[in-house]
Amino acid sequence: MDPVLRVNQLKVSFRTYGGSVQAVRDVSYEVASGETLAIVGESGSGKTVTAQAIMGMISPPGKMTQGEVVFQGRKLNGLSARQWKSVRGKEIAMIPQDPMTSLNPTMRIGQQIMDGLLRHERLTKPQAAERAAELLRLVGIPDPEKRLRQYPHEFSGGMRQRVVIAIALACNPALLIADEPTTALDVTIQAQILELLQSLQNRLRTSIIMITHDLGVVAEMAHRVVVMYAGLVVESGTVQDIFSQPKHPYTWGLLQSIPKPHTGQKQRLIPIEGAPPDLFDPPKGCPFAARCPYAMEICVEQLPAEEKLSDTHTARCWLNDSRAASIRELVAAGR
Ligand code: SF4
Repeated sequence: MDPVLRVNQLKVSFRTYGGSVQAVRDVSYEVASGETLAIVGESGSGKTVTAQAIMGMISPPGKMTQGEVVFQGRKLNGLSARQWKSVRGKEIAMIPQDPMTSLNPTMRIGQQIMDGLLRHERLTKPQAAERAAELLRLVGIPDPEKRLRQYPHEFSGGMRQRVVIAIALACNPALLIADEPTTALDVTIQAQILELLQSLQNRLRTSIIMITHDLGVVAEMAHRVVVMYAGLVVESGTVQDIFSQPKHPYTWGLLQSIPKPHTGQKQRLIPIEGAPPDLFDPPKGCPFAARCPYAMEICVEQLPAEEKLSDTHTARCWLNDSRAASIRELVAAGR
């Protein structure tokens, strides 16, 4: 089956007074129908920039300098601003991080949901109002007819995020991009929103790209995972590949830095020491070398290729190269 979305060899750079920042380099991945793909990485890893490229939202001084984004068989890069209007919000929609900044505080919720419906669907105003009420019901907001007349400040944080999800789902998009959708919410509300997204996906078969730095969210939600570091995909695989058989030291570091309260044992969280490299002048070798406890001479000299480890699993690390066999054994013994 053809994927819903294919991102191929994407490169995005930003021109600044200090030089060109290579925010995303040679990033490729696919999203299948009804699948959740998590893109994981720390701030500045390029995860949000790849999402902006998919939505055609890279604007100067940013530029997509290479690659293509193919959505349902149609190449998106190169679309005119008018063509983008029929894709953005209708076929691909986004759930932003902070619902308060994405909702217009001076407009009633109903109007904000109806806006997209009236723009993209052939509906009369009463039909759009009826659909808006249905959408609020779908995302679990009680008494929708009354709620449609209210303003964002009359909703709690969790309810506002439900409204944002309703707006994103208004036109039944095939792909939903959720950019850290629970970061601005309390932990208990986070769980409710993730549950809601999961049940909506099961019902509507929407594909989801979940951008997050939270591996707990990944374990809960994702089918497949892309790990990004310094603008590169350093590892990708199914959730089982990444959590049971991670093959990149950065992924090991991420996994060691999350608490595992279910084990019932006291556990020391191990932070990843150091900072990501300067993307004005990225190192010629592996970008993780300065922080990697297993770095070898070749790591500093040469960027490892994205190696296919199985049908589902890739990693960009010299430890997966046959020439590093002895070091791999040492690493395995120490882990
Ligand atoms: Fe560490 Fe070398 Fe692998 Fe980079 S390529 S993650 S420096 S072992």
